[in-house]
Amino acid sequence: MKKPLLKVDFHTHTTYSDGRLTPERLISRAKNLGVGTLAVTDHDTTAGLKEARIFAEQSGIHLVDGIEISCRQGDTSVHLLVYGSKVFNERLLQFVQNFREKKLGRVERILEKLHVLGFPISLEELDAVDYENLGRPHIGRAMVRKGYVQSLSEAFAKYLSPGRLAYVPREEADTQEAVRLLGEIGAVCAVAHPGQIRMEQGELFKNIKHWQSLGLCGIECYHPCHEDRLAEFYASYAKENNLLVLGGSDFHEIGASDSKHGELGDQSGRWKNLEEDVQQLLTRIG
Ligand code: AMP
Ligand code: FE
Ligand code: FE
Ligand code: ZN
Repeated sequence: MKKPLLKVDFHTHTTYSDGRLTPERLISRAKNLGVGTLAVTDHDTTAGLKEARIFAEQSGIHLVDGIEISCRQGDTSVHLLVYGSKVFNERLLQFVQNFREKKLGRVERILEKLHVLGFPISLEELDAVDYENLGRPHIGRAMVRKGYVQSLSEAFAKYLSPGRLAYVPREEADTQEAVRLLGEIGAVCAVAHPGQIRMEQGELFKNIKHWQSLGLCGIECYHPCHEDRLAEFYASYAKENNLLVLGGSDFHEIGASDSKHGELGDQSGRWKNLEEDVQQLLTRIG
């Protein structure tokens, strides 16, 4: 009988960005859940990868170095996943550093707004490893801890999402500029959760085509925010257009699976050509 392939996950976060597990706990959880290949893709930082590698080697997990870069296109965010040794490229690190530096100021502005709304939270009350890499989840979780809301999703729905009273947009990289840079340094990069890009479908694929001409190599097809039909639609588009098919849970914390985030390895179960796609991906990543 054929040995069942271990689960894979190409999209996860740790405490070095807005996840709640340290790299050590993330790896140990992945191991317990039967994940054999795991990419750590913190937002705008590679700071957790060194630690992750130590624990991955101890646990016999194949770790793929990664990063998720937040970009902007018009009035929507576009997230790019990057894999392999090129995540440590100096130009790329400088590029993300520029935007990371702006995160703290934006978080302070959100805290000011919340203060006015009667929900005071100090910077010290945000549970963060890296104060340079704070985001809205840190604020939402502090709101839960302080009893201002019942859940993180309530914090987003009522206060932190675009259009809500405490929302402050943040400066993100220009998508085209980012993809061009990634193409120039020869990085393996994919568009993350395209279902979250607020763009009409024709326009989305026009953009993907353009990004591909600049260096985009893949599409994250299997993601908790894509229902089965949409995931298969992206996968067949990717195959027809010579793009890699990717999948990941976008795991941030235990017990917080929602329409945007899942549990480690959870996309493997519905990933149609898992073995073949992962083989292609790992070959490209090198
Ligand atoms: P920021 O980087 O501050 O713009 O926050 C974006 C992050 O917030 C994403 O990476 C998600 O982890 C998280 N997020 C976005 N929307 C929600 C939501 N509705 N519920 C929980 N987390 C969310
Ligand atoms: Fe996040
Ligand atoms: Fe994302
Ligand atoms: Zn993510």
